[in-house]
Amino acid sequence: MGDVKKTKRRSKGERSKSRHIPERTCIVCRSTRPKRELIRVVRLTEGGVVIDETGKLNGRGAYLCRQRVCWEQALKRNALNHALRVILSADDCATLQTYAASLPERLEDPGIGRSRLPGTDNHDVRNCVEEQNI
Ligand SMILES: [Zn+2]
Repeated sequence: MGDVKKTKRRSKGERSKSRHIPERTCIVCRSTRPKRELIRVVRLTEGGVVIDETGKLNGRGAYLCRQRVCWEQALKRNALNHALRVILSADDCATLQTYAASLPERLEDPGIGRSRLPGTDNHDVRNCVEEQNI
């Protein structure tokens, strides 16, 4: 707390072809946001999952909104298990729950959690992680 380090180093793996802001999709609500507005959860190669606030860790990652509702849904629906192809341990779940508790319940975002006008379904906002049938 209070100890926020700002590192401006760029990760070398960034693709240079895209000038636009990279976007990622929340694995729960499927909303697409600039990568930095989402929180990355990474499966470590040695096992376990961590919350990767820097976006720099190696490993298979999944993105969630910075809002508790998405994290709760993710835990409830085992969305991370699917996305990361991992079985979360009780410890992992506890870590995620603790983190979720520190987030605002919902972001103030008209695109999320509000009912849309009827007839404006759009299905084109998927998806970087496919749902998997068990
Ligand atoms: Zn979300």
